[in-house]
Amino acid sequence: MVAVHPRRSNATIVQVGDDELNGALPHRVTLIPGDGIGPDVIDAARRALEATGVAFEWDRQEAGAELFEREGDPMPPSVIESIRERGVALKGPTSTPRGAGFRSINLALRQQLDLYAGIRPCKAYPGVATARAGTDLTIVRMNHEDLYAGIEYAHSSPEAAALRDLIASSDGSRLADDVGLSIKPISISASRRVARRAFEYARASGRSTVTAVHKATVMRHTDGLFLRAVSEVADEYANIAFDDRLVDSMAAELVAHPERCDVLVAPVLYGDVLSDIGAALVGGLGMAPGFSVGDGCAVFEAVHGSAPRHRGRDRANPSAAMLSGALLLRHLGEHAAADRLEGAIAAVIEEGRTVTYDVVRKQTAPVGTRAYADAVVERLASPP
Ligand code: NAD
Repeated sequence: MVAVHPRRSNATIVQVGDDELNGALPHRVTLIPGDGIGPDVIDAARRALEATGVAFEWDRQEAGAELFEREGDPMPPSVIESIRERGVALKGPTSTPRGAGFRSINLALRQQLDLYAGIRPCKAYPGVATARAGTDLTIVRMNHEDLYAGIEYAHSSPEAAALRDLIASSDGSRLADDVGLSIKPISISASRRVARRAFEYARASGRSTVTAVHKATVMRHTDGLFLRAVSEVADEYANIAFDDRLVDSMAAELVAHPERCDVLVAPVLYGDVLSDIGAALVGGLGMAPGFSVGDGCAVFEAVHGSAPRHRGRDRANPSAAMLSGALLLRHLGEHAAADRLEGAIAAVIEEGRTVTYDVVRKQTAPVGTRAYADAVVERLASPP
């Protein structure tokens, strides 16, 4: 049963499920379709979430490049207000224009809501031919600091010249006059809190090992500091094993033996690269869910972008968005519903008759986003 909430704008839809009929209040979640393939995959994820029987009250908020083109603002203040108030959002991808335009909406959300950890599970589901069987790992990465802090100086700037002079006078290293600089800040406090998130995630999901990924042999005062901070936090978690690995060796291990990897915790850049490798190991971006989390809010969204060439073509794989929805359910404490949703997605993929172009097997015709979502919803409505 779908009803419009009487006290809210007509953008808010209340989906009443069994839980509410049994007296449970609906979960209040911000819903951001985004742009490009975002509206397609988010609609599929919303339908699948509702088909679990859990009750939601969605607050639909627009953000992204299409809104910017129409109204000159890619993210009105109501988006942040809505997420702050509800604490949870399901978000579709949003395009960031190259060059002129506006800064990344994801960056703005992470900064304004202090979503300091990015969590990206990579799990191979039977039936995805390109997936490496046995892969079931999670990458937890810092969302702030590191080389993504945006502290950069063009080679020709007076700031770069001043920094080159400072470096020459302090340690004698003379950098070439045409050197540009990107600064890599890593703090003890940020390292500790992402480490704690990684261990808490490991504990909550029954994982056995957390591995810190770094290059402390070369960058002692940033990666070395990160490693020491994570090791200190590891001491608080006696039941979870801890080890560490150089990032180059970790990348090789991921490709050669992904089944040996469990929970990896890393600064931003390494985490970003390793999670794209992880996505490739499980069948591509269409299969890679994730979320960004801080102490107050969590935003659930697929790792993939807005894939503009697939926009409006009912073609994209919504699995990553749906699996992000399953992570959202776990965050809300709805573990049985999360298991059912993940099980339905896994079953439809393994069956292989109603899947999208990127995971379809030979001799089977792919279906579109909507038809795949229909199959997941049907499976949830009438499990075998
Ligand atoms: P992308 O992830 O959008 O697309 C790369 C390719 O991956 C696509 O061409 C497509 O072949 C495939 N792909 C991605 N998602 C898929 C899906 N669900 N199903 C099937 N195939 C899928 O990366 P890009 O082309 O580098 O970025 C496009 C835009 O998205 C850019 O503007 C970028 O800034 C933005 N972006 C947004 C987010 C986000 O909002 N979270 C993340 C990454 C990129």
